[in-house]
Amino acid sequence: MVYIVRREREIAALRQSFVATVSHELRTPLSLIHLYAETLSLGRVDEKKVSDYLRSILVETDRLSGLINNVLDFSRIKEGRRDLHVTEVNLSELCERIAESFSFRLEKEGFTLQKCIEGGVAAWGDALAFSQIVFNLLDNAVKYSGEGRTVDIALKRCGDRIELIVKDRGIGIPDNMKSKIFRPFVRVERREVTSKRGSGIGLSVTKELLDRIGASIEVSDNEPRGSIFRVSLRQRRESCKDENTCC
Ligand code: ADP
Repeated sequence: MVYIVRREREIAALRQSFVATVSHELRTPLSLIHLYAETLSLGRVDEKKVSDYLRSILVETDRLSGLINNVLDFSRIKEGRRDLHVTEVNLSELCERIAESFSFRLEKEGFTLQKCIEGGVAAWGDALAFSQIVFNLLDNAVKYSGEGRTVDIALKRCGDRIELIVKDRGIGIPDNMKSKIFRPFVRVERREVTSKRGSGIGLSVTKELLDRIGASIEVSDNEPRGSIFRVSLRQRRESCKDENTCC
């Protein structure tokens, strides 16, 4: 009984902090979009800057939709309502598309994105889930890069498996946190993390979606610094664990 009451209190506290974090996270890109749009509407922006402002609006709307998708998936997963819509997905095209959607942000922040995306790689799974997974991994690689401004994305076939690898040369992840970061709301407690926008649910949603697709994810150190996230999935359809939810 004492355990149940304690657990319910913990859940209520988590829910409260979740609502507070997410509201804050939603407000920031919204205020920026408002600011850019308002400045543009006043017509006082130098012509050369107009396209920068418009692209900044696109970057912020991408961030906003990334966050909204994570929040929706997070609550659907918790309620057991996240159905997978399984089709054969061209992962090569999907990775190229998501990488392209990051290009302005990367350019603006002085990043180099090294792509090594094998053509024609396809897998059975949910296209929106795959997009969200690639978005979350790239978003984190950029967000936690510090001064190491090179990010790599690779997609390749390895025997009967497919590997998606996202590497950064950033702040890295302490060994004792490598498995914990896949749990909801866990953020590494250091200034380089807490000073960045974040809800602490991206990797837990990523892991949960990959579990459902029948894929795995692991994180290791990059040398000399940074992190490597490696997703491994089978090419065959049987890998999808929960075939009942695969409509
Ligand atoms: P968020 O980024 O919103 O905090 P995530 O669930 O995406 O939440 O990530 C959880 C935590 O894992 C982050 O807060 C950060 O501490 C750590 N992390 C994730 N990706 C990286 C990375 N590429 N480099 C360093 N730390 C990372």
